[in-house]
Amino acid sequence: MPLDFKQRCLRLLPAVDKLLQEKKLAEIGEKVPRSLLVEALQDVIAEKRSFIQKASSEKDLELMDLSFPALTADALKKIKGIIEPNLQPVFNATGIILHTNLGRAPLCAAAVAAVKGVGSSFSNLEISLKTGLRSSRYEHVEKLLCRLTGADAALVVNNNAGAVFLALNSLAGGGKEVIVSRGELVEIGGSFRLPEVMTSSGAVLVEVGTTNRSYLKDYRRAINERTALLLKIHKSNFKIMGFTAAVNSGSLVELGQNYGIPVMDDLGSGVLVDLSNYGLPYEPRVQDPIAAGVDLVTFSGDKLLGGPQAGLIVGRKKYLDEIKNNQLTRALRVDKFTLAALEATLRLYLDEKKALQEIPVLRMLTVAGKVLKARAEALAAELGKEIGSAYQVGISHEKARVGGGSLPQVFLPSCQITLESRKINAGELAEGLRQGRPPIIARVRKERVLLDLRSLREEEERLFLDTLVNSLREMANNGGII
Ligand SMILES: *Cc1c(COP(=O)(O)O)cnc(C)c1O
Repeated sequence: MPLDFKQRCLRLLPAVDKLLQEKKLAEIGEKVPRSLLVEALQDVIAEKRSFIQKASSEKDLELMDLSFPALTADALKKIKGIIEPNLQPVFNATGIILHTNLGRAPLCAAAVAAVKGVGSSFSNLEISLKTGLRSSRYEHVEKLLCRLTGADAALVVNNNAGAVFLALNSLAGGGKEVIVSRGELVEIGGSFRLPEVMTSSGAVLVEVGTTNRSYLKDYRRAINERTALLLKIHKSNFKIMGFTAAVNSGSLVELGQNYGIPVMDDLGSGVLVDLSNYGLPYEPRVQDPIAAGVDLVTFSGDKLLGGPQAGLIVGRKKYLDEIKNNQLTRALRVDKFTLAALEATLRLYLDEKKALQEIPVLRMLTVAGKVLKARAEALAAELGKEIGSAYQVGISHEKARVGGGSLPQVFLPSCQITLESRKINAGELAEGLRQGRPPIIARVRKERVLLDLRSLREEEERLFLDTLVNSLREMANNGGII
């Protein structure tokens, strides 16, 4: 390629000062510091310069748009990337209710109000309003947790991985032994592998039984003077089928009592209501192992409980005192937002009907398939009217999932709005929807985009539809990605 062609292109690159006079940039210049504008423009020009210098054919350069509007648009994108929030609300149209990547449980209105209250003000986080003396932050939820679960003491830490780690470190750190069935050594989403958590807690893992069958006698044989804990772990995200045997909490408790060894049950997804009353399979409630005499139960705040990220430990006071006295508790301490949201969420459980009504996760979990069908059809009809000619809008009836390592075998009846376009493939459509404000996270299946109603709240449907229409119109106008 003749060198002078490159030179000519380089000379076409405008000076930053000239670009700053562009109307769109002058407008945004009133809202953002000038230094940001200048930096963005310098970056854009530097990128173009480097592209020109590296180009190997004239064709590449001919396709390049060096007009003021094009350079301005690039700079605006960069500025937006800096000034607009990164972490933001999205619509979860995946049909997976508890999606760790989407922040798990959305909070109930009462929890949001509580967070806003203590967040924008001072609070009685660690002061007794009665005596004026220092108190413990955990008191705000301890009594409530005890009332709801039947335990006589409780503690809240950052997440359930932290709860398990802390309990093991407190009761079995320093090389004491913890007996676990081989069928329960789970990995949860890569970041939580039970054997690794145990090792890092300083406890020694003693595996008993086989992958599919463990008996009480296996546990009994493994007990020795170093044994500090019998541990049961809920198989949250998988199920072993066929020729299986496992030891129930009641039998473990009996064995533990005979030898004076505490029993802990990591439930993972802590549920407080009996889901089998609502057409779902039975899932052990936190109350159940407590009633069976288990000494410690750990569970997550943001799985089926439907609250903020937290790890809850409930059980016998004697063991909780040991845990509370562990220095590591301070490192896993929850903040006031978590406590505020958790307290408000837990309080709803005092009245089960209210909990089912107001906690988004429970609502999504229990709403009837036919209600979702009616909602999907109404939305699809409106959508068809708005963007009908550019897209094919339909309905499908794929199943939805609970997700978050909860109820792995449950497929919930659901209903989806389907989207297809002759011009834009499904992957691009889904990508375009993710650029919306708020972004919409969809599923792609067999060349169609599916928007599942089960993981959307009814009260956000209006905004969802508006966002959808805007994004789809913009994509139709641009012939693809926005
Ligand atoms: C999800 C889960 C955990 C981890 O809980 P986080 O709150 O995500 O830290 C631990 N144990 C079991 C059995 C789980 O299902």
